[in-house]
Amino acid sequence: MRTFDTSAGNLRVLVAEDDPVSRHRLHAALSSWGYEVTSVVDGHEALREIARPDAPTLAILDWSMPRIDGLQVCRAVRETAAGQFVYVILLTSHDRDDDVLEGFDAGADDYITKPFDSRQLKARVRSGARIVRLQQQLIAAREQLREKAMHDPLTGLLTRGAFFEICDGEIARAQRKSQSLALIMADLDHFKRINDQYGHLAGDDVLREAAVRLRATFRRGDAVGRYGGEEFVALAPGCLMADAVALAERFRERVSAEPFETSAGRINVTTSVGVAVIPGVDNSWALFKSADEALYRAKAAGRNTVALAA
Ligand code: GH3
Ligand code: MG
Ligand code: MG
Ligand code: MG
Repeated sequence: MRTFDTSAGNLRVLVAEDDPVSRHRLHAALSSWGYEVTSVVDGHEALREIARPDAPTLAILDWSMPRIDGLQVCRAVRETAAGQFVYVILLTSHDRDDDVLEGFDAGADDYITKPFDSRQLKARVRSGARIVRLQQQLIAAREQLREKAMHDPLTGLLTRGAFFEICDGEIARAQRKSQSLALIMADLDHFKRINDQYGHLAGDDVLREAAVRLRATFRRGDAVGRYGGEEFVALAPGCLMADAVALAERFRERVSAEPFETSAGRINVTTSVGVAVIPGVDNSWALFKSADEALYRAKAAGRNTVALAA
């Protein structure tokens, strides 16, 4: 059978309770079980704690508190994106069924009636903590999957889809701020011959090394992707045509300057590059189309060259 980690770890718990005796009891009990506890005296302070970047992931809220009560805190928390993941236990002396239902309607995950029984509190907080941990694991796993899906396994560069998405955002930003943006599209020359002559594994080594040289040409934050088989793309925000051509030229130069080390020996590689910039075109599709046309002109001009969009 699967076992779950139910240890207190350093899970952060918020206690919001106006009654000092009850608040101190809760604080002392939770601390003694290993939780990292923050106590506040009303709903207003509770909301402030939950809005912090390192907010507690489990909150015990007294129902009746001055200014903003526990129910209102619960509703407000559920309306925020981050608040979706806070596990809320309502502390109530209203033990009538209707009140309990109202608490669940407000988004509470569980409730405890006052005066609380310490063993019951311990068990309920532990089961809440287990859910919080499972949720955190799920979120982390989803993030990992997303990261993985965004990157090409061979080169580690952005996939075509991820690159397009970033490109859309960058174009919108460039337009909003009236800034320029350059798209550089490169296609390795006669790559099919490299595969045919040295084998596909050596071809893969060439692609990996081309990605390294492309990455090194651009700034750390610039988006660099693998568009297709032996086609690469990069975005350079803030670059006018002259800067973009200089970058494209630098990449072309970097590729041809040194042979590529591969499992089948050293291979001479060249690349053709097309460049397009905003202003000039006003959407992703048009930007790609003009860079692609420029690239074809570079091929037609004899390869190992950079061409600009018309
Ligand atoms: P050009 O100078 O006109 O670009 O000629 P080319 O041979 O580079 O162009 P072509 O489009 O004819 O060939 C591209 C080749 O890239 C064909 C395909 O088998 C190869 N290729 C695509 N993806 C991969 C890959 O992941 N690994 C390897 N080794 N080869 C790949
Ligand atoms: Mg109260
Ligand atoms: Mg190609
Ligand atoms: Mg090619």
